[in-house]
Amino acid sequence: MSKLLFIQPTQYAITKDGLKKGLCKQKIIHLPGLVFPLLAAMTPDNWDIEIKLEVVDNIDYDQEADLIGIGSMGYAIYRGIEIASEFIKRGKTVIMGGYMTSMAYKKVLEYVDSVIIGDAEISYPLMLKEFEKTHKLQKIYNYPINNLKKLPVPKYELLINKPISNMLPVQAGRGCTHNCSFCSIACLYKGKYLSRPIDEVMRDINRIKELGFNRFYLIDDNIVSNPKYLEDLCREIEPLKMKWATQCDINLARKPDLLEKVVRAGAYMMSFGIEGISQEGLDKLNKSWLKVKDHEKLINILSNAGILVSGEMMVGTDGDTEETIRNTYEFLNKVKLPLPRFYILTPTPGTKLFDEYKKAKRLLTEDFSEYSGSKCVFKPENITSDKLTEMYWWINKKIFTLKSILKRTIFNVNFLKHPLNYIFAFFVNLHYRKYIKKGVPANIF
Ligand code: SF4
Repeated sequence: MSKLLFIQPTQYAITKDGLKKGLCKQKIIHLPGLVFPLLAAMTPDNWDIEIKLEVVDNIDYDQEADLIGIGSMGYAIYRGIEIASEFIKRGKTVIMGGYMTSMAYKKVLEYVDSVIIGDAEISYPLMLKEFEKTHKLQKIYNYPINNLKKLPVPKYELLINKPISNMLPVQAGRGCTHNCSFCSIACLYKGKYLSRPIDEVMRDINRIKELGFNRFYLIDDNIVSNPKYLEDLCREIEPLKMKWATQCDINLARKPDLLEKVVRAGAYMMSFGIEGISQEGLDKLNKSWLKVKDHEKLINILSNAGILVSGEMMVGTDGDTEETIRNTYEFLNKVKLPLPRFYILTPTPGTKLFDEYKKAKRLLTEDFSEYSGSKCVFKPENITSDKLTEMYWWINKKIFTLKSILKRTIFNVNFLKHPLNYIFAFFVNLHYRKYIKKGVPANIF
């Protein structure tokens, strides 16, 4: 039997001084990824599969494996390359995939035998077949898909012996109808949104239930991309009486009927790209559909409906100044955003924003290993790059003070309606606070 080793690398924590501060490790994985259980389900039975999630597992570079597949989520791609290089040194065959590999595949190919670009549903089985026959791989497998039908049930069994929380992932859709210039999803899917057949999504949710989990994370880049699909899916989920989380654009709050159905179906936590409070900044990132003047109203609608709002925030748009960043802190306290997470705007290679900044000579470095999301790597318009990095740490420190945490969670007006949600948010904030105090960004956990 051949052995296939899948590795999801963790990433190095980068301190505010730009130093590597060891690998990010956790005692528990709050949301395990879906990709390896899904690929495992597409693998013929003559392969023995092992999954290593570096955030909780150690990597043994001398272990036997015929083929090694490494994922790449965001900045962890650099740790992935490091791991790949160790295995290559030992004569192993290594292939990398995932969205960061897809965006920067030329760079990755300097270190590995082969890459899969974009979706793996066609590329992966083809790659395995070729490897079984010839023990050789093409340099690049790039076979886009045009639908998400007939995906197998992910092999969740490979995850459940690991220290995971009370949630497993289920895929609903991929892609997004928006085209924000900084976004890797926009770059890969170019405004396309693909959704899985509802009966297949339900089959996977039922499998999770069978395994004893009563919560799931609906993996989707923007679940409200197709409101009718979301509505139909909620109708099927509701009778299961399960709790779930997902991510989508904040305009869900403008559709009260749909929002009600989403909450009735068990959604309790959602992540929204709120980004910032400068409309000019959003407009320049092709995100003008997001209206800063409506942020407060929409966050209130979602919170009042029973959703625990997690906000993805960034600093460093062209509308940002030292003052707007200070005002962002005031704003988040005012709207009592329970779960804020900050990044520095980063022109990820492969995105429109990267091309734009490169053309305008605004990139300070093309050493992508510096593109961690916690260091400014470009020339901002209205603040210096050093000041921007300083303000990123400033806002992180301020927003995770006990005073701010308590105000946004335990003293949130919605606390009494959904106490467990806000107690959960309180502890998540404490978790972020712990890392910020050590000088490690909270956005990586
Ligand atoms: S709405 Fe979100 S997922 Fe969609 S393109 Fe913009 S940033 Fe990307």
